[in-house]
Amino acid sequence: MLDKRNFYINGKWIKPSKLNDLEVINPSNEEPFAVISLGSKEDTNIAVKAAKNAFVSWKEKSKEERIKLLEKLLKVYKKKFNVIADAMSLEMGAPIDYAISTHASSGQSHLEDFILRLKNFNFEKNFESKSNNQISYEPIGVCGLITPWNWPINQIALKVIPALATGCTMILKPSEIAPISAMIFAEMIDEAGFPDGVFNLVNGDGNGVGTDISSHPDIDMISFTGSTRAGKLISKNASDTVKRVCLELGGKGGNIVFADSYPNAVRDGIRNVMSNSGQSCDAPTRMLVEKSIYERAVKEAVEEANNIKVDLASKKGDHIGPVVSKVQYEKIINLIKNGINEGATLAAGGPDLPEGLSKGYFIKPTIFTDVTNDMQIAKKEIFGPVLSIIPFETEKEAITITNDTEYGLGNYLQTEDKEKAKRVAKELRSGIVYINGKAADSGTPFGGYRQSGNGREGGTWGLEEYLEVKTITGWK
Ligand code: NAD
Repeated sequence: MLDKRNFYINGKWIKPSKLNDLEVINPSNEEPFAVISLGSKEDTNIAVKAAKNAFVSWKEKSKEERIKLLEKLLKVYKKKFNVIADAMSLEMGAPIDYAISTHASSGQSHLEDFILRLKNFNFEKNFESKSNNQISYEPIGVCGLITPWNWPINQIALKVIPALATGCTMILKPSEIAPISAMIFAEMIDEAGFPDGVFNLVNGDGNGVGTDISSHPDIDMISFTGSTRAGKLISKNASDTVKRVCLELGGKGGNIVFADSYPNAVRDGIRNVMSNSGQSCDAPTRMLVEKSIYERAVKEAVEEANNIKVDLASKKGDHIGPVVSKVQYEKIINLIKNGINEGATLAAGGPDLPEGLSKGYFIKPTIFTDVTNDMQIAKKEIFGPVLSIIPFETEKEAITITNDTEYGLGNYLQTEDKEKAKRVAKELRSGIVYINGKAADSGTPFGGYRQSGNGREGGTWGLEEYLEVKTITGWK
């Protein structure tokens, strides 16, 4: 069993102030493989003090000095790339090839992109050529960064790197369900040689360290990725000290498949929703299909779902792994049963374990057809490999159904008609719209409308989240 009970505070790995062990479970076999500590208020206070002290000199470092350290971190990241991929595969069940090609690589590409954006970012700007006013971008201060388990290193990189790049100091609290990759990342920061106290890591749960961070008077900003439920609590806790709160929350994405979509659109939509075992905030979990192709689309969707293999995360190859934990497993199975009781047609998958697997939190790729948008399976973020198919007749109806959700993170649409694609994309109320499965470029902003959150991560937008903007008159 891996002993990971210490916290990284002020440049050292130190023991927690009180013993409070938590086992980290491998979701492929339900066995513990590591032990961490859940921190206390005292641990958070020590880490915040270290970050506050470090801010005094870290904010004075030049952009070039910060770039140098980030480039060093990139080198260390590349060296330990497989170590971090292995950790994510164990802690959250990502199949090892997927953990390498998608999870671990996301951390590297965010690092590379933020270095590039930082090089091109001007922290000082003249307001207008005739003005004597100067606009100055300054680091906001001490940041509390709280991350989820579903894309561990992706979320950590999207917060820690821009915070470091802009001259902030920080306390990271990764998910207690998948904390090992975060601790390896802390080791990398240590090896890269960032000054003591700039980056600190304290493990803990939401009610403990999560709440202590969100209400701490010496923390200036919270950046949170996770559930909408926790996002609301964090906002309330942060309000007494008027912190900046950036939230990246849940989603219930629509995927509008028009009759004139490209031939593989339905199959690609199925692969997309089932990847990462359905545990992605921008997964297209409601497939809206134009009535004239409904039967063909359902047939293809079912075939494709049945073709997806479910297997151990340690096995190589193209399959999906387990969902992350017993809690998530039970929640998803209950929602599948709920869908059956609500009268939707179970067309693929279902609540039983996949064949050949008797242990582990495995769920078959599941498809419901004849779903209406008022059913729970169409409204709730299930966060598992479960898709609802909803028929529509007109473009207007497709837009109305897609927007009829409390979320607004990622929506998708499939059509070969370029004008229609642009028209519909503009009408969809979400932070990102994917046309015909095209990926977002590195450095584009990512975030949600409505209850999917309020911030934007990635690229220049991601840097600006960590900055205050100051106007200075009489500069010239
Ligand atoms: P979660 O909200 O349960 O936990 C996320 C993190 O918040 C964990 O570190 C947890 O310990 C902490 N936390 C929980 N309650 C807290 C509280 N009251 N105060 C402070 N911290 C608290 O979410 P999860 O189950 O780990 O992750 C899945 C959720 O994350 C999904 O809803 C998913 O859509 C969302 N997500 C969103 C994005 C995005 O960019 N919008 C990306 C990935 C995941």
